[in-house]
Amino acid sequence: MIEESKISEVKGVGEKTEKLFSKLGIYTAGDLLRYYPRGYDVYEEAVPVSEVEEGRIMTVTGALFGRVQVSGTRRMQVTTAWVKDITGTLKVVWFNMPFLRNTLAGGGIITLRGRIVSKKTGISMEHPEIFYPSEKYEDKLHTLQPKYGLTAGLTNNAVSKAVRQVIENLNLSKEPLPSNLRLKYGLAEYNYAVKGIHFPEDKEVFYHARNRLVFEEFLQFILSLRKLKDGNERLANEYVIPKDARVDEFIKALPFTLTNAQQKVWQEISKNMASDTVMSRLVQGDVGSGKTIVAVLALMNTALCGYQAAMMAPTEVLARQHYESVTGLFEKYGIPVKTVLLTGSMTVKEKRRAYDRIECGLAKIIIGTHALIQGAVTYDNLALVITDEQHRFGVKQREAFAQKGGAPHVLVMSATPIPRTLAIILYGDLDISVIDELPKNRLPIKNCVVDNGYRKTAYTFMKKQIAEGRQCYIICPMVEESEHLEVENVTDYAKALKEEMGGQIQVDFLHGKMRQAEKDDIMERFGKGKTQILVSTTVIEVGIDVPNATVMMIENSERFGLAQLHQLRGRVGRGKYQSYCIFMSSSKSKETRERLEILNKTNDGFKIAGEDLRLRGPGDLFGIRQSGLMDFQLGDIYQDAKILKEANEAADWLLKNENEYVRKISSYEKISSVII
Ligand code: ADP
Ligand code: MG
Repeated sequence: MIEESKISEVKGVGEKTEKLFSKLGIYTAGDLLRYYPRGYDVYEEAVPVSEVEEGRIMTVTGALFGRVQVSGTRRMQVTTAWVKDITGTLKVVWFNMPFLRNTLAGGGIITLRGRIVSKKTGISMEHPEIFYPSEKYEDKLHTLQPKYGLTAGLTNNAVSKAVRQVIENLNLSKEPLPSNLRLKYGLAEYNYAVKGIHFPEDKEVFYHARNRLVFEEFLQFILSLRKLKDGNERLANEYVIPKDARVDEFIKALPFTLTNAQQKVWQEISKNMASDTVMSRLVQGDVGSGKTIVAVLALMNTALCGYQAAMMAPTEVLARQHYESVTGLFEKYGIPVKTVLLTGSMTVKEKRRAYDRIECGLAKIIIGTHALIQGAVTYDNLALVITDEQHRFGVKQREAFAQKGGAPHVLVMSATPIPRTLAIILYGDLDISVIDELPKNRLPIKNCVVDNGYRKTAYTFMKKQIAEGRQCYIICPMVEESEHLEVENVTDYAKALKEEMGGQIQVDFLHGKMRQAEKDDIMERFGKGKTQILVSTTVIEVGIDVPNATVMMIENSERFGLAQLHQLRGRVGRGKYQSYCIFMSSSKSKETRERLEILNKTNDGFKIAGEDLRLRGPGDLFGIRQSGLMDFQLGDIYQDAKILKEANEAADWLLKNENEYVRKISSYEKISSVII
């Protein structure tokens, strides 16, 4: 078998499984090899009964205690047992396994591994895996079992088996990396790494394998960026745009003074656009630092010079939000610039009207979603494209615009807080401007880290805020097993909350499985103040500006990376009201407390990212989800910062020596899909 072999050629994969794999984007043996586990089940040492933590999968060893009981209905039989060690007693339940009453009748020492849940009746372990007699656990101890992303009908076991088949029957690929690099950076051999990422014998093997694959993932990304940069530099500036005096007047008339950082960045942008090279620039600024107004200045200046300027947002809600704030400002200050909205959900008639106005050049500023680069749009003289909270503006997008005109200036806006050393590498194709200062009128967000006992108080506090006219977000606890459970979880949480809050308060919920239109609808209702509480998974849109929302409560906050927590917190504290962020955590561990304390102490995203990096160190891969920023397949820009720097150094070397490895890198698509 070779990497290009169809998945149906893998032993055990029939027509039905083939279809299921195709749903996951897996068509060939190679695709399957690169379908890395989302995580691993780690068979850890057993903990004392008194130290089990709610929400986590844990192992305990103890003596069976008392009688094993079976209760419940025919459809749902519940088997209950008790295990006891010197620190305490734990209730254990299984579903629809009544025969366990006999199996466990002999008593004695048992080891159990399962999820710890907390119900009204107290703490228990649910449906654990059984090791009886207890010694059986020793074979499993410290091993890692891969957990794959699944789709309905496909089991983890099926994926795991298919992967094993491929690994065992594949004609080994040749090692692509030059051997001196492997030696210098201590990188595992390719085939070893692939096997090790799927079926690591222990953590050591896993780290070694993962390091290698992350290194190569970063290396390819960096090499593609360098090519992109070369391409950009050869582009002469077709649209020399001098600064228009009316923009300065506009700035003076604004109800607030620009921060020094906003002014500095605006200078950098306007200078660049008036120079003889085309602009490819990233504006990086923490949440709430005021990037939008800087973008508006660039749009306006371009339009006043007689050219068109477009701004692209990732969702309809954000696009509409921008459109409304731009037209509002222009109206208020009498700026004579025609602005249109263009999104996918507009009717055919509405779209045609927008197309006409864009094509004839009447519309000077165009704000929208991806519809801006799709088929039917023709621009008259597009000179500037801005993307907000977007996927990286890659070669494909640039080409799409080029086909619709010349080579416009590009401005990319991002709230991803990363240290400058990393930014230079990750945005190697762009010049970087940083807004490193928040507007002065802000009241700093008040934070607290609390445990579950505080939940009732938090709800009461929210009621009070709502009575004063404010709104709240709640980020739901995460469910590890499957996205399906996540949906159920959010729905249940919202339902319970509604009861708790009483009939007057409107509660809505949001999760990743919803259609875009549905999500937009819910966000819009919240934006207009029709709902008071929004329960959501982390899909809550970046960039959403609802200044009236003042409370953000995050359940299970110990499971998130700090950078992501900071982004979530950034949804509040955007207006004149005092805002609050409640980090809920049941974890008693010292490290967790220490991490969350950082958020408690500072609201500065750059500082947080740095501290996070320092505390997590390399290697802490099991406890915390990836940052969710810069979505690499394996690599995490914070956690793997050291590898990133090494890959950058390696890229320098490969380019300098015109190594043949460089020639093989051609995939620009990788770049466009990375969220910045
Ligand atoms: P982000 O950088 O997260 O995109 P926004 O551009 O949405 O932030 O700005 C957040 C809020 O701050 C907006 O309501 C905006 O009007 C306001 N704002 C922007 N600049 C300033 C400033 N210099 N002084 C006071 N408020 C500002
Ligand atoms: Mg924004």
